[in-house]
Amino acid sequence: MSSAKTVFITGVSSGFGRALAQEALSAGHRVVGTVRNREAQQVFEALNTHRAFARQLDVTDVARCNEVINEIEATLGPIDVLVNNAGYGHEGILEESPLEQMRHQFDVNVFGAVTMIKAVLPGMRQRRRGHIINITSMGGFITLPGIAYYCGSKFALEGISETLGKEVKPFGLHVTAVAPGSFRTDWAGRSMIRTPRAIADYDALFDPIRQAREAKSGKQPGDAVKAARAILTIIDSDTPPAHLLLGSDALTLVREKLATLSAEIDAWETLTRSTDG
Ligand code: NAP
Repeated sequence: MSSAKTVFITGVSSGFGRALAQEALSAGHRVVGTVRNREAQQVFEALNTHRAFARQLDVTDVARCNEVINEIEATLGPIDVLVNNAGYGHEGILEESPLEQMRHQFDVNVFGAVTMIKAVLPGMRQRRRGHIINITSMGGFITLPGIAYYCGSKFALEGISETLGKEVKPFGLHVTAVAPGSFRTDWAGRSMIRTPRAIADYDALFDPIRQAREAKSGKQPGDAVKAARAILTIIDSDTPPAHLLLGSDALTLVREKLATLSAEIDAWETLTRSTDG
C-alpha cells in the first residue's frame, strides 16, 4: 500500500460495502461507512476502535448526505476516496412495475450517488486530489428481461461516471465505475424489491428468470472479499481505469454484448450514414 487514506463508503452493513470496509481497514486505511440504524453503526465501529467510523444515512436524504460529508471533513479531515456502493435491485416486468418503483430505484442508485459526489467534489477539486468509485453492475452494460429499472439506473450511473471522469481529469481527480457480475451478497436476497406478477402474457418469459435468480441467491460465483481486494488495487493505483468489470461472468457477458452491438452497428451502417448532409 502506498499510503493510508480516508475512504468513505456508503452501505457498509453487508455485501461489497462491508467487505471493502474490512479489507481497507486491514490495509491500514481509515474508513467512514454509512449504515441505516444504530445497531449497524455499533457493529461497524466495533470493527476497529481507531479507524472505523459509522454514520447513519439514507442516500435519498440530500440534506443529510451534505451534513455527513461536511461533518466528516470538519472532524476527521479530507475524504480521499468516495465509494458509492449503497444500492439495491428492483426486479419486475416493466409493464407490471409501478413508476414509483422506478423513481425509488433511481433515487437510491443514481440520485443518491450523485448527491454524494456533489458533496465531496468541492473539497477534492480544491485539493486537486481524490478518487470517486461508483459501484455500477454488469447490468450497466447488459440487460435481461425483468430488470429494466435496475439496468436503467446502472446504465445511467455508468454514463454519469464516465462523463464526470472527463470533467475532473484536469484537476487530477479519478473516477472509476466498477461493474460486478453476480456475487454472493444480500443483493438478490433481503435487499431486492420484487414486483408481484400480474400479466399472464409474461409468464413464459419471466417466471423462469425470477425462479433462477431466487434459486441462485447465495450461490453466485463471485466472492465479495476478492472484489474488495480488486477495488483496493485501483484505490492504490496512480492510473485507475474509468471502468472495471469484476468477475468472469461479467467479462463474458459484456464482451458478448459489445460484439453483438458492434455487429448490429455494422449491419445498419448504410442507413446510419444516410442521414448526413
Ligand atoms: P447488499 O448486501 O444488499 O448491500 C447493499 C447495501 O446498500 C446495504 O448496506 C444497504 O443498507 C445499503 N443501502 C440500500 N439502500 C440504501 C439507501 N437508500 N441508503 C443508504 N444505504 C442503502 O448488496 P450488495 O451486492 O453488496 O450491493 C452493493 C452494490 O453492489 C449495489 O449498488 C448493487 O446494485 C451492486 N451490485 C451488486 C451485485 C451482486 O451480485 N451482489 C452485482 C452488481 C452490482 P441496509 O443494510 O440498511 O439495507
